[in-house]
Amino acid sequence: MASCLFCDIVNNKIQSEKLIENDSIIAFEDINPQAPTHILIIPKKHISTINDFNPNDSELIGEMFLVAQKLAKTENINSTGYRTVFNCNEDGGQTVYHIHLHLLGGRKLGWPPG
Ligand code: 5GP
Ligand code: ZN
Repeated sequence: MASCLFCDIVNNKIQSEKLIENDSIIAFEDINPQAPTHILIIPKKHISTINDFNPNDSELIGEMFLVAQKLAKTENINSTGYRTVFNCNEDGGQTVYHIHLHLLGGRKLGWPPG
């Protein structure tokens, strides 16, 4: 497999401050935050896009949302509100091809997205 930025973060080849780490997932701050809270939740396993999920990944994807829920609480944005986003491929705005769930909050977010 070609090198992958987020695999490098998983493997500590690139440094990041991990907010949560368990057997299957890590969460860390986005380097270019778009809101006061902007956290990326990623599986340790490399999956390029949401087109590449398979039924065996169902539990993993569910766990990613449970991590988002937990972080929303620790970031104190659970009541005010937040957004979780998976971008997919070019029109979706995906730039890193290792799936990641964005957790955004801490300000009023616009809708529809640009
Ligand atoms: P995408 O555009 O693929 O949905 O999101 C990729 C995200 O990864 C962007 O929000 C970008 O700021 C973030 N990002 C890119 N490179 C790095 C990095 O080296 N470290 C961290 N923490 N975030 C990164
Ligand atoms: Zn990867």
